[in-house]
Amino acid sequence: MGKNPWRRKRRRDKGPHSGRFKQNNTQQKKRLLTEEDEGQFEKICRLKKDVWGRAREEDVNPTPGRLRPLPAGPTELEKLKLESSDNGNIDVGENIPDHRSFSVPLLMTLMNDFSDRHAQESPTCLKPVFVMPKDGERARGFVFQETVKCGKCGYRLGPVKLYEESERLPGKTRGPKPAKKNVQFAVALTKIGIGITAAKTLMSGMDAHAPSLSAMHHLNTAVCDSLEGILQKSLAENRGKYRHAMELRGKLVEKGKPLAGTGAGDGCYNNPSFYGVSQRATQAALPVIETGTQDQMMIGFGFANKLCKNEVTE
Ligand SMILES: [Zn+2]
Repeated sequence: MGKNPWRRKRRRDKGPHSGRFKQNNTQQKKRLLTEEDEGQFEKICRLKKDVWGRAREEDVNPTPGRLRPLPAGPTELEKLKLESSDNGNIDVGENIPDHRSFSVPLLMTLMNDFSDRHAQESPTCLKPVFVMPKDGERARGFVFQETVKCGKCGYRLGPVKLYEESERLPGKTRGPKPAKKNVQFAVALTKIGIGITAAKTLMSGMDAHAPSLSAMHHLNTAVCDSLEGILQKSLAENRGKYRHAMELRGKLVEKGKPLAGTGAGDGCYNNPSFYGVSQRATQAALPVIETGTQDQMMIGFGFANKLCKNEVTE
């Protein structure tokens, strides 16, 4: 190894900061930053995820605080939940940590079946601990199929339907029969002025398990279709009754030919009426009743809708 001519010995004992001991030497203090100085730089800190998300601008400032975010703190609802579980001190264990709605007779049958079979299948386990595990659950909208398990020996029974089923809706031939509760809900929804999204919000507010939006939509369409069928059938039936009554009164009623009669119709709209000669509406309904008999049965129903092309008139 020859001597490198370019290498110079570094002298530490020269210059203003020479390593030599100086008597009474005190190091210069760092100047404290003023507010103005701090304003010049972005403060580097890890922000909570919710704050970080709000401050974020995709193009200008994609990482506020210059660092990735910290996990967000609990929301107000979560805080309440935490408080209540702290106070109650409930150990949910393996159980489903939530409320469920069951048909009580079916639940009792399941418990009795479980008790009998548990005694047969694992006779050594004398004091079973009933558990309803989360992994044994199958949701069907508002209702559930549940499994019961013994917490000691692990014997399981289920999933078993804990709800009543309704008849298949018209036009549906495949898949499991719908739960009665779900169909009842869909029918009730046709009678009030809220849609499935609002209904879902209501159910979520109560912490109740609700069907998915698409499931609710499918059920609603099926129910509406069948209601429409029922309505048309009932109108036809009423017209038949009216014709029969007229025939009994001695009027000439020919099969397949129209019959003159008295009736009344009254239109209603989806928006309130105003003064004027015209009525602006996107939807209008016109029920027609006969006034020839004392029953005053509904014999026709006209419906016009500007929102969709599908028009039904009976
Ligand atoms: Zn057991």
